[in-house]
Parts: sequence; C-alpha cells; structure tokens
Amino acid sequence: MIITLKSGASAEAIETVLNAAKRFEGVNPKRYEFDGRDGSVTEVHLVGDTQKVPEDAFTVLPAVRRVVRVSEKYRLIGRHGQAERETGFDYRGLRFDETELHLFAGLCAVDTKEHVAQMYAALREQGIRTTRMGAYKPRTSPYDFQGLGAECLPWVFELAGEHGMEVVAMEVCDRRQIDEILDALEKAGQPTGVMLQIGTRNTQNFELLRAVGQQAQLPVLFKRGMGITLEESLNACEYVASEGQPNIVFCLRGVKTHLGDPHRNLVDFAHVPVLRAQTRLPVCVDPSHSVGRMRIAPDGLPEIFHAAGQGVVVGASMLLVDFHPDPAGALCDGPQALTLEQLPRLKAYIEELRRAYLTCVKAYAAV
Ligand code: PEP
Ligand code: MN
Repeated sequence: MIITLKSGASAEAIETVLNAAKRFEGVNPKRYEFDGRDGSVTEVHLVGDTQKVPEDAFTVLPAVRRVVRVSEKYRLIGRHGQAERETGFDYRGLRFDETELHLFAGLCAVDTKEHVAQMYAALREQGIRTTRMGAYKPRTSPYDFQGLGAECLPWVFELAGEHGMEVVAMEVCDRRQIDEILDALEKAGQPTGVMLQIGTRNTQNFELLRAVGQQAQLPVLFKRGMGITLEESLNACEYVASEGQPNIVFCLRGVKTHLGDPHRNLVDFAHVPVLRAQTRLPVCVDPSHSVGRMRIAPDGLPEIFHAAGQGVVVGASMLLVDFHPDPAGALCDGPQALTLEQLPRLKAYIEELRRAYLTCVKAYAAV
C-alpha cells in the first residue's frame, strides 16, 4: 500500500501517518521522498501483511492525498496505474522527466585529454550540458582496453566543469569505482555532476545495484539487460530504488539476438511507451549500442540517427549516443561512433522529431 501525502505536509503530519500504520501488526511503514516538479513529495509505503489494513485508516487523515493498493512488484519505480504519479527528478539544475529530452553525447571510453576537451568543446558550442564518458569499461575480452579508470577522473571532471558540463554519464562495475568517482568529484570541488551507469552486463549484479542504491548523491542510469525480459530488468532496477536511491533513468539499448543482424542488437525502442506506462522513470534510448555501426542509409542519414529518432517519436526523455573526434583511432566502439561534425545535425534532427512527437500527442491523444 502506498500513501501519498499532500505537498508541504509537516513533519508532525507525517509522523501521524507513520504512527497510524504502526498500529497494524506485521506491517512495516517506510518513508520515501521524491523530487516532484513542484517540490518534494512524501510517500509512506506499507510493507508486509497489508491485506487487513483498511484504506480509510489513512484517507481520513488531513495530510493524506491518496492511498493506493499496489499488487505489482515494482513498488518504488512503478507507476501503479496513476498517470499523475510524479515522474523523474532534478539534478544539477536540470529536470529529468517526461517533459524534457536530454542528449547525452560523448565518448564511449575516455582515451586522451585532447579528445575529451574536443568533445566537450563541440557540446558547448551546441549548448549541450550533458555527456557520456566511460572510465571503467567492462569488455567482452580481457585483452581489450579496459578504460583508464580512476587516473582519468580528475581531468575528466575538471575539463567538464570548464566547459559547462552539468552531468557526465559514467559506467561503474563495482563498489570501489563508485567511491573513486565520489572522491574525485569532491577533490575537484564538484565541478560537474555524474550519473552512475549500470551497464547491460551488470543488470543483475545485485551487489552492484545495492551499492549504487546506497549512495544518495548521484542519480543512476540503468541499462536493460540484453538477454533477459523487461520484467526481470525492472525487478533488478527496483533493487536500486529499494536501497534508497529513487533517481533512476531506465535505458533501452537493444537486446542480443542474431535476429537483429546486421545490427549489433535488436532495437527495442517500442518499449518506451510500455516503460512510461509501467514506471515513473524517465526513459532513455541508446541508439549507438543498439545499431552498433556508423552506416549511412540510402536517404543520407546515419542508421544511428534513424534509431535515435525512433526513440524520440515514441516519447523518450533522454538519448545516450557515442561520439569520437577520431572514430578510427577510438580504443572502444569506434565503428559505432559519430563524428563531431555530425553533432549539430543529430541535435537538430532530434529537436525536429521531438516537436513532431509533441504535436502528434496534442492532436491524437485520446480524450
Ligand atoms: C556503454 O554505454 O558504454 C555500454 C557498455 O553499454 P551497454 O552496457 O548497454 O552495452
Ligand atoms: Mn560502448
């Protein structure tokens, strides 16, 4: 059972709700705060044997806005059939929810300072403040480049701050790397923010999910598992929220099957509206790891543009796209990297499709 309080509920009123819940045996109330568009929203979740708890034990309390019985498993990340349930969160002055679309364009893997600075400069020129920079790379082969790790963090963050980057999406593969990132951000004076990325290979690494959930500072970019069902990915994602970090973006990145050939993965962006209906999470699409190659289609647009566009026209809130100043020389995923010259074109292209999406929603939404 989820009890949503009215905005601005006093500490005393919240305490009254918690005490009312504690009267029921076998029921454990837990308090959560969510970042709503119009301020913080408090929810009290009743876990345990809630069958015998009547809803009106709470609806009569003046601070209570709504009481919902949840049967689904995604207690924290689920939308529970309520279109009005708050989605998303604020971070570093940016809003991440279904009303916004952010382009996170950057290097799959950090290699040199020059490339990082060139990437940031290209983004700044387009007024983009969100990027991706991989420092820790989980690779299929142990002999492939594994990322520069902690040594690159000071200059990746410092340069980000100098170029006005507000959020850097960065994958982590274990608890120690989270600490290294938090430490480097602190030492650098928090010049930028970081969104901790859980890669598809770690989707069901429950210890890692717990670790990212236990830190309160950085939001999380959770990539769906490439070989498991959507439901299994959502359950895994709930681990992060259940440990205390509700600020999560859910990223689609294609699923592994030869049916997707010649693409690297089978594009799964038709799941954007499914995720938006089932969860309160902003949805990201990653056309780079889905398509896996920089190939120009007969109409002149890169296949990656087309895949990105498919995400935008079904309502994605974020795009994660690999770029590199010199794709041929990139140490990881060069074949799928777009060039810096393609950045303004991608930006304009997705802006145009976003406008088309909003127009269509207005024109065709069911009343
Ligand atoms: C990545 O975004 O760099 C990455 C490795 O993606 P995925 O985990 O989706 O393969
Ligand atoms: Mn990659």
